[in-house]
Amino acid sequence: MFPETLRAARLMDHVRCLAREIGPRPSTSPQERQAADYVKRTLRSLDVANIWEQRFQSQNSLGWATIPYLLAGALAAPLAWAGGRAGRLLGGLLLLAGAFGLHRFSLGRPPFFQRLIATGPSQNVIARFPPAGEAQRHLYLIGHLDTNKQRFLAPLPWPGLVRPLNTASLVLAALGGLTLLLDALLNHRRRATWQWLPGAIPLSFLPALFFDEAQPHVDGANDNASAVAVLLTVAEALQRQPLQNTEVTLLFTGCEEVICVGIEEYLQKYAPPRENSYWIDLEMVGTGNLCFVTRHGINHFSHYTPDPEMVALAARAAGKHPQLNVIGKEMLILEEVANLRHHGYKAICLAGFGDDGYLANWHRLSDNLDNIEPETLERAARYTWALMQEVDRIANKNE
Ligand SMILES: [Zn+2]
Repeated sequence: MFPETLRAARLMDHVRCLAREIGPRPSTSPQERQAADYVKRTLRSLDVANIWEQRFQSQNSLGWATIPYLLAGALAAPLAWAGGRAGRLLGGLLLLAGAFGLHRFSLGRPPFFQRLIATGPSQNVIARFPPAGEAQRHLYLIGHLDTNKQRFLAPLPWPGLVRPLNTASLVLAALGGLTLLLDALLNHRRRATWQWLPGAIPLSFLPALFFDEAQPHVDGANDNASAVAVLLTVAEALQRQPLQNTEVTLLFTGCEEVICVGIEEYLQKYAPPRENSYWIDLEMVGTGNLCFVTRHGINHFSHYTPDPEMVALAARAAGKHPQLNVIGKEMLILEEVANLRHHGYKAICLAGFGDDGYLANWHRLSDNLDNIEPETLERAARYTWALMQEVDRIANKNE
């Protein structure tokens, strides 16, 4: 029923090569490049004809996209207190800009100062598989090549607190910014004590952020060697058994961990048509239970949802293969579907989750080969294949 290449042993070989032999693959690093080379070598050994690489520049750490906003927020309170009317005006603007920037960050958007921080080389590896018959639609599968640092803020040790805390911080910063602006415009001299708070929050986060920045990179066996492994075994399956009417593109993205740089670069350069194109992003599918994500986001203002047609297809694939045990589920996650949905594409994310309902070993050193479950990985590969078949069966509009 499922192609023979979608087997646990084969998948584990790829995860071992990426997460143990290459090891941590920081965004823009030589190891990320080695992972890209490994993918290209593997695809060439399968005689895949259409493989290419897209090079681009990116920042090398997540902190570049968050710390400037927090610094802006932290500066607001002292400015407002000491700087008179102009200080309150500037403080208010800084707080609002910080809140707005962090809001955009939590939607996966690049910071407006991206060009200044994108100083390292990275790459996407792209491989295309024509269908057996006439191409009527296009399906993209995405797995990112890079790995993040261990981060105790993302997620917090108590992941249930992430959304409420992020939401409260944004609300406070926005309210603080607005009231400071109003005070400046109406020339109020009295300042409420609570107006310290919006500045105090980023100030208290900054040491923790710098602490995270100093952490080692994780092996990324689950995040996201698991996805790359699935894509490589799917490539092998497609070489023997192409889809009927669906052209497939495998997209191995660079620099996802520093806020989805690779996918944005791909969309900007190639601008694939929105009509008849379908996207599946795989995230951390090597441990625990499996789901297609029905709602994503890391605060209450930045949730995003998959394409409803993709959700229906995903549910159908899960229903046809109950032994694969895949459910639809809301997740605490921020990944490339955010960018794809923002640009109007039909996209969905497949993810793994632990018994607590959250991504397993997410941004922790425990994300290593020892904690990968071959059986989960095999189910993920088979479910991906089942969903690809559902996409291939979508009725052609011309018929
Ligand atoms: Zn990831």
